Amino acid sequence: MLGHKLKKIIYDEFNLKKQAEELGLRVWETPSFLFIVMGFVIVVAIAGVYFVSNNYDSPDVLVISEAVVVAILFIIGNFIIRSVDQVARANKMKTEFISIASHQLKTPIAEINWQIELLLSKFPGGLSEKQQLLIGQIAHSSQKMARIVGDLLDVAHIDQGKLALNKEKLDLRGIIDEAVKNQRPLANATELELKFECAAIPLEVLVDKRRILVVLDNLLSNAIKYTGRQGTVEIFLEKKDELVQVCIRDNGVGIPRSEQTDIFKKFFRSSNKLKNNTEGTGLGLYIAKNIIEQSGGKLWFESIENTGSTFFFSLPLVKA
Ligand code: ADP
Repeated sequence: MLGHKLKKIIYDEFNLKKQAEELGLRVWETPSFLFIVMGFVIVVAIAGVYFVSNNYDSPDVLVISEAVVVAILFIIGNFIIRSVDQVARANKMKTEFISIASHQLKTPIAEINWQIELLLSKFPGGLSEKQQLLIGQIAHSSQKMARIVGDLLDVAHIDQGKLALNKEKLDLRGIIDEAVKNQRPLANATELELKFECAAIPLEVLVDKRRILVVLDNLLSNAIKYTGRQGTVEIFLEKKDELVQVCIRDNGVGIPRSEQTDIFKKFFRSSNKLKNNTEGTGLGLYIAKNIIEQSGGKLWFESIENTGSTFFFSLPLVKA
């Protein structure tokens, strides 16, 4: 496991073409390439200084050669700083763009939803079956759009360090009950068994209920989506010293080992999504991890392909 991870880190570090594509730069502009060149220049410089000091007695030659080496290193250092600066600026612009675009889209989508509700309430019973079906489909699509826009806005807030949490003291069991109730129709639709068992002990945490529901909705809907028909999803809640640990276990498609290091990256969707032909944006886990970490907890997982996955998160308990 460790060897595999190390190999991937080394491979990613030296895969300059992939890095250039990811950063939107040319290969020679990537920080890794410039670092390699800098390392090469340092080695050549050391050898050169050694050669010069062995063959020339004049201190002038030594000073000039050292000045040339320092100048070359300065130029390369400058290139590195500029390429990092360029990447940081592009990243900031992208985050701002996502934030502005999703803010602008929120209002018209809310209007569509409101007008659909108005249409349905103004003509109760007056719409034909076909009309009701079409309006239902429009409502479904616009709710989906609202969720995507909401996710993009959350991502922009996370990246700008502006994700606000309205924390209050709550019993985690109550929040999980609510999340399970929200997901019950999805589980029933695929004849999946959704189980939640927990001992009746107080498990109070200081959290933003709306955000923790987002985390649970993401983890539970993933477990259901990537398990499919007649599977089982179980939720366990356990007190561990000063923490409470939530565990969501499914017996679904699992996550291929080679993709497990990428699972919390923004927009990443594993190749297993094809197996269940599922819809998604690859933002849910990124958002969930950030919410849990900002609430003072941790989120992680274990998974075996074709056997299932278990997602865990822990939160600090409020001291009595
Ligand atoms: P998505 O919108 O694609 O579900 P997420 O960020 O929630 O985005 O998840 C990222 C990817 O992780 C998914 O596309 C899926 O490939 C994988 N994944 C997440 N949860 C599970 C799970 N319980 N079982 C198998 N794969 C999962």
